Amino acid sequence: KESNSNEPEFYQAVEEVLSSISQLVEGNSVYQQQAILERLIEPERQIIFRVPWLDDNGLVQVNRGFRIEFSSTLGPYKGGLRFHPSVNQSVVKFLGFEQILKNALTGLPLGGAKGGADFNPKGKSDNEIMRFCQSYMTELYRHIGANTDVPAGDIGVGAREIGYLFGQYKRITNQFQGVLTGKPEIMGGSSLRTEATGYGVAYFLNAMLDAKSDSLRGKRCLVSGAGNVALYLMEKLDQYDAVILSCSDSKGTLYCKDGLDVALVKHLKNERGAELRDYLNEHKNAEFTPVNQYPSDGHQVWGYEADIALPCATQNEITKKDAETLVENGCSVVCEGANMPTTADALKVFKEHNVFLGPSKAANAGGVATSQFEMAQNSSMQKWRPEQVDEKLQQVMKSIFETISTTAKQYSNEHDLVLGANIAGFERVADAMLKQGVV
Ligand code: NDP
Repeated sequence: KESNSNEPEFYQAVEEVLSSISQLVEGNSVYQQQAILERLIEPERQIIFRVPWLDDNGLVQVNRGFRIEFSSTLGPYKGGLRFHPSVNQSVVKFLGFEQILKNALTGLPLGGAKGGADFNPKGKSDNEIMRFCQSYMTELYRHIGANTDVPAGDIGVGAREIGYLFGQYKRITNQFQGVLTGKPEIMGGSSLRTEATGYGVAYFLNAMLDAKSDSLRGKRCLVSGAGNVALYLMEKLDQYDAVILSCSDSKGTLYCKDGLDVALVKHLKNERGAELRDYLNEHKNAEFTPVNQYPSDGHQVWGYEADIALPCATQNEITKKDAETLVENGCSVVCEGANMPTTADALKVFKEHNVFLGPSKAANAGGVATSQFEMAQNSSMQKWRPEQVDEKLQQVMKSIFETISTTAKQYSNEHDLVLGANIAGFERVADAMLKQGVV
């Protein structure tokens, strides 16, 4: 639609899905008559609101808040909140659209949504974060509910922010209910929710390698990001005896040819004020490349010889040039922890060179699956043990892999997991839409 032409990320996400499913839709007159595609790409509801808050100097600051309730076909709207200065309507729409199909792939009763604000949590005090979260929830509370819309975290939103958001929701509504997931465990959070997305990516990657009668042992991995997804992915890769050569954050890239000390990376990122660069104080053989020294059109983190690339920072972080470098350096497997981290041109490069690619809507679905486990625990007033959650998470990731590789085999070849994920997710949503009539 012309009216969406200024939404490049949303366009990109829709185009990728359409290129996978067009044959299926063109050959199905019911999908066409019922305008399934037209309905699927139009959000059910888009909420944009002002978020005024007081900074520590007593000055009023104003940010823009979003919640896009994209599809409730399969269950309550579900998807994270992102607090980052780059958040705008296009970014939230692409994330919400991807979330519909991702949630469908989990096989769980979850609709799709996403939200956030163009608020930068960096450099803010705890009190400023709390006041921002309280103001954000003062508007959001009227749109969400345990059976309506259940937000979670994303970039810039972790257990601390979810705690403040939950506190304000409870205060306004006088309801202690599972209206947010990713809560601190003491107030109804699920064990392993923090680790779930990263661990889930590792379980999915393991299934990919297993399908090729291979394993993670000794594999050289390049990871981007050093936040929630990247840190717990690295922790699990370490347990699988893979070698993690690099990781990165918004300031630069850390690399060590002998493999990174994951516990130290985790410690540095979780300790206030410490930076990835400080790793060099303890390991002189490591290298740190600041962002201003990255190659043009590319990212340093992908510039090393390796077997597997794992983007876990943000969208479009693997450019065409990065993809070419990865292929030249021997990388044959990519597994996406971040949402839509690979540009459309980079995807083509990977396809031409038969790189085995695990798409984000499948590979990083462990987070939302565990959020659904949190909803189930909250509504039944139960608390599951970490081993129970981990076992269920492993089952979900394995089942997603099997579903999409079977679908890929049916429509093309079993290694085209992008196609498999798009078709399998779409079919589940479309079939439920047909059963619900024109809504
Ligand atoms: P975090 O905020 O915890 O971490 C993000 C990491 O990526 C940080 O290291 C950050 O750097 C870096 N980063 C973020 N934006 C940029 C940028 N524009 N340029 C360079 N580096 C950047 O977020 P998450 O780990 O939660 O999320 C990462 C990705 O995973 C996102 O795409 C998110 O949508 C996706 N995802 C997350 C889920 C979850 O459960 N958390 C679930 C499913 C998907 P710095 O440390 O300097 O801030």
